[in-house]
Amino acid sequence: KFLSSQSIPTALTPKIMETPKLPDSKRMKILVTGGAGFVGSHLVDKLMMQGHEVIVLDNFFTGQKKNIEHWMHHPSFSLVRHDVTLPILLEVDQIYHLACPASPPHYQYNPVKTIKTSTLGTCNMLGLAKRVHARILLASTSEVYGDPLVHPQPESYWGNVNTLGPRSCYDEGKRVAETMMYAYKNQNNVSTRIARIFNTFGPRMHPNDGRVVSNFIIQALQNKDITIYGDGSYTRSFQYVSDLVEGLVKLMNSEYDAPCNIGNPDEYSIKAFAETVKEMTKSKSKITYLPKVKDDPTQRQADITTAKRELDWEPKVHVKEGLRKTIDFFQAMLDVEGEIEPT
Ligand code: NAD
Ligand code: UDP
Repeated sequence: KFLSSQSIPTALTPKIMETPKLPDSKRMKILVTGGAGFVGSHLVDKLMMQGHEVIVLDNFFTGQKKNIEHWMHHPSFSLVRHDVTLPILLEVDQIYHLACPASPPHYQYNPVKTIKTSTLGTCNMLGLAKRVHARILLASTSEVYGDPLVHPQPESYWGNVNTLGPRSCYDEGKRVAETMMYAYKNQNNVSTRIARIFNTFGPRMHPNDGRVVSNFIIQALQNKDITIYGDGSYTRSFQYVSDLVEGLVKLMNSEYDAPCNIGNPDEYSIKAFAETVKEMTKSKSKITYLPKVKDDPTQRQADITTAKRELDWEPKVHVKEGLRKTIDFFQAMLDVEGEIEPT
């Protein structure tokens, strides 16, 4: 016998988050590829809370269902388990194309798949955008600047990228993806946006992500050695995830269709960053130095003149404020898991 909806006990009825009701003229159907990942899931939260209908497309390579499970039963939310390297037919108004592993250990795990994701995947999403006349935003990266010879990096800099190194599958994949956006825009009139995202951190980073922020925090919270690759003189500028999401949404809905850096110019040497994390976690960890990794960019700092001018956007969250929230997130995870061995 089937249960009628009235007879389902309320304890089993999932609690559905309330979202604003937008008039039909403002409500869009928005596809987020990679929406179960770190950045994608925060973007989904923002779009849902704006009252849009959101479809997440993800193959769960690095994404996790728990990042989006709070939306699972919402009538405006749907999840499609799919690989972007394969074509798909959907009806949407906007596409945020984020599907691609982002951390070096993840994208180097299967370089061929990483290249296919950025090339075939972007081609499929552009084909979809063309067919349904949707606007598409590519989550590109500061890695298109490679090991930059210009500092900080403006969008006009063409980059210094090795075609044959361990990072090439990711860097060159995103560079081709940008070129595809440009070609579809000029040849097929597709409305395109390109965000060049600089290092981003926050809650929901995968504990085995292997990137510097999650590694250092997890190591520090467990009083394990903080592992610096090289001598710690390399630099990165770190932005908190809510600033990135704000920037992506602003870029998507702006009229600006050239590449746009989205990052926090607050630049740290990796050594100074390790010391900051150690101090903020009151850790007894030892800072240790491992051999440097091949093709590691020596410096990186976002030039955000374009985003300020075109989007009236700049980061609002100070790195230390974002770190506090991220430390609390990983502490809560450790309280449940007991121990985590970062990649
Ligand atoms: P992430 O690994 O947490 O998320 C990527 C998501 O894409 C995951 O959910 C994964 O399962 C999904 N995915 C991967 N390959 C796929 C495929 N073939 N088909 C369908 N889904 C697939 O990474 P993130 O940090 O959230 O990054 C999101 C996007 O932003 C990526 O495109 C990345 O290149 C870009 N980006 C991120 C940063 C950063 O610092 N986080 C910096 C620059 C660019
Ligand atoms: N890094 C480090 N220890 C770690 C992880 C990363 O010293 O445990 C360094 C890495 O070599 C690089 C910087 O931190 O110089 C940023 O690395 P991440 O992987 O976070 O991002 P990306 O290199 O892609 O910017």
